[in-house]
Amino acid sequence: MSQAPFETVIGLEVHLQLSTNTKIFCGCANVFGSAPNTNVCPVCLGLPGALPVLNHQALLSGIKVGLALNCEINSFIKFDRKNYYYPDSPKGYQISQFDFPVAKNGFVMIKTDKGPKRIGITRAHLEEDAGKLVHDNLSNCSLVDFNRTGTPLIEIVTEADMRSPLEAYDYLNTLKLTLEYLGVSDCDMEKGSLRCDANVSIRPWGQEKFGTKTELKNMNSFRAVKVALEYEVARHTQVIQSGGKIVQETLLWNDEKAMTIVMRSKEHAHDYRYFPDPDLVPFHVDYKVIDQVRAELPELPAAKLERFIKQYALSEYDAGVLVMDQSLTKFFESCVEHYSQPKKIANWFNGAVLFEMKERKLSLTELKLTPSHLVELVKAVEEGVVSNLAGKEVLTAMLDSGKTAGEIIKEKGLAQVSDDSALLAIVDEIIKQNPTVVEQIKQGKPAAAGFLVGQAMKQSGGKANPKKLNELITQRILNA
Ligand code: ADP
Ligand code: ZN
Ligand code: MG
Repeated sequence: MSQAPFETVIGLEVHLQLSTNTKIFCGCANVFGSAPNTNVCPVCLGLPGALPVLNHQALLSGIKVGLALNCEINSFIKFDRKNYYYPDSPKGYQISQFDFPVAKNGFVMIKTDKGPKRIGITRAHLEEDAGKLVHDNLSNCSLVDFNRTGTPLIEIVTEADMRSPLEAYDYLNTLKLTLEYLGVSDCDMEKGSLRCDANVSIRPWGQEKFGTKTELKNMNSFRAVKVALEYEVARHTQVIQSGGKIVQETLLWNDEKAMTIVMRSKEHAHDYRYFPDPDLVPFHVDYKVIDQVRAELPELPAAKLERFIKQYALSEYDAGVLVMDQSLTKFFESCVEHYSQPKKIANWFNGAVLFEMKERKLSLTELKLTPSHLVELVKAVEEGVVSNLAGKEVLTAMLDSGKTAGEIIKEKGLAQVSDDSALLAIVDEIIKQNPTVVEQIKQGKPAAAGFLVGQAMKQSGGKANPKKLNELITQRILNA
């Protein structure tokens, strides 16, 4: 494989909206989708004299995220003003954290072809979100909605540690899963509760110094981040190879045209004239509070994956599918409590149940399947009451009707026939019809019995117990 002409270097900044009850510095509701300018007050509108008060829940969420990303927590909490003018920011500045981010020096582990890789987290800081500009085509003007103004955000900044768009994509998925486990945000990119700015540069292989970066904004999915980065790497390469220079600037990704468009050349950090917000007095968080948050952290995805593989003897694939969603792991563990056959349950769950979820476009909760109902079905198959195939039919009917496996098996007459006398009639008939195959079995080719089992299954309308059939066929022929 020919090597790319340059090495790619990527660093990501993720903004995450924290799902607290109220905004970060006032008592307004922190909800999505209200009528414009209904969740506002003098504080988040930036009226003169209004004073901000830090939301404790937002601070705890920030500490939680920091701990989950293996960061050091700054117990010294300080907020700063980042000064800039934009119509969606009524105060003329954004309250953020400049020199004392709530968390710093952490990492996230991702999987790569070459094994696990550490992506450094430079910092994670708390700040307030801005409002939203909505363009009104009717009167050809922009309107401002301040509902989002003052919504708590945590910004998570990585080191420039990623070396390909794929690594960036994997980092984002790993990060999002961890954040979902923490329950601090709905992490919904479409609603804008998770946003990602991507910084990218290229450099000759072996060169230590980073190349000039560009920053990409406006991607609305992780896939779009990956595609935008691929586009931008190709553009950098082309510019440099044709003797040009990359200009440090911010670009907007246009998903329809699949290309980047210049938004602005980079303002430097000092343009923001950060200074401590005099309305928010710095303070120390008690270490006990931090320890408490640490003690209450949930089991995180990587640890859960390892435990599922060990404790339940699941394959990495099966455990991985479950761990992708906390509600699946809860459901699975509850099934195992009812019936200690984790592998059998995982097979059913990751196969038939997930298939039905996809088909019906429903979440697990919406599916209305309970762990005890699924276990009843898995047991019925394991104990030979119904065949594996019929089991799937039972599951579909269970989900359609809300009835139990037992009820459906009875109603539809799906129970396997294991009764010898009923099966023997079929077996004898099949033996009579297939003398050549019978001869093969007699000459020591027991595998040929599979063909006869298949024929007998057909004859029984799929209701015979195949294990039982195999036994009877072999016995009948060898004892003849
Ligand atoms: P800025 O001053 O533009 O905000 P920062 O140094 O704060 O830049 O970095 C912002 C993000 O860009 C971080 O994730 C960082 O890792 C990344 N980054 C910085 N320099 C580069 C570079 N040359 N190439 C790629 N990513 C970079
Ligand atoms: Zn408010
Ligand atoms: Mg910066």
